[in-house]
Amino acid sequence: MPRLHLERHRFLRVGWLRAAVLGADDGIVSTASILIGVAAAAATGASASTTRSAILVAGLASLVGGALSMAAGEYVSVSSQRDTERADIAREQRELARSPDLELDELTNIYVERGLEKTLAREVATQLTAADPLGAHMRDELGMHVGSHARPLQAALVSATSFAIGSIPPWVAAAAFSSNRIPIIAGVGLVLLAVTGGIGGRLGGAPPLRAASRVLAGGGLAMGVSALIGNLVGTAI
Ligand SMILES: [Zn+2]
Repeated sequence: MPRLHLERHRFLRVGWLRAAVLGADDGIVSTASILIGVAAAAATGASASTTRSAILVAGLASLVGGALSMAAGEYVSVSSQRDTERADIAREQRELARSPDLELDELTNIYVERGLEKTLAREVATQLTAADPLGAHMRDELGMHVGSHARPLQAALVSATSFAIGSIPPWVAAAAFSSNRIPIIAGVGLVLLAVTGGIGGRLGGAPPLRAASRVLAGGGLAMGVSALIGNLVGTAI
């Protein structure tokens, strides 16, 4: 889905399906890392039941906080994209009403730049303008496509949901096991990351194995650093 205005946020760069997979990746890495960090910190001293509830509350907070922050980020970003799109369309409408000849020249030049001969470009521009002037300018001048319009609520919902879904398996692993919690959470997280990484790579046209190993390396690093920090802080406090 090519877009004219590239923004930082993933929902605008990639399709919603890939955005969902990346959101799930985020949920897995964030929540598994937080669970591991708290588990590592609590491993020193506290009683087993205190440790368990601290870990589970932290994991739940990660799920909720992460999902909401993803939703807010996507909503703001995609809203501003939508405002830009609307402003572009309104400007095109004004220009088409005010100076149709200039707009026809503009469209002709766009087709010339894409490789058509001047006379043919003129003919194409004339016919497309006759059929649907605004549509032709939106598509060929602004790079907008029907169905590709920014939808802030949808983006927010997909991001929040996918983050929450990604957060659940590590949390369940933390709840289900009382011994060897850290390696189990890490194992569950890494297996899921390998799967989502492969799917994300495939959806993005990258080799699944390479994509999966990149996601695995990043996720493994995040969990490792969290364990280390949890360990240090746990012993210090
Ligand atoms: Zn135009």
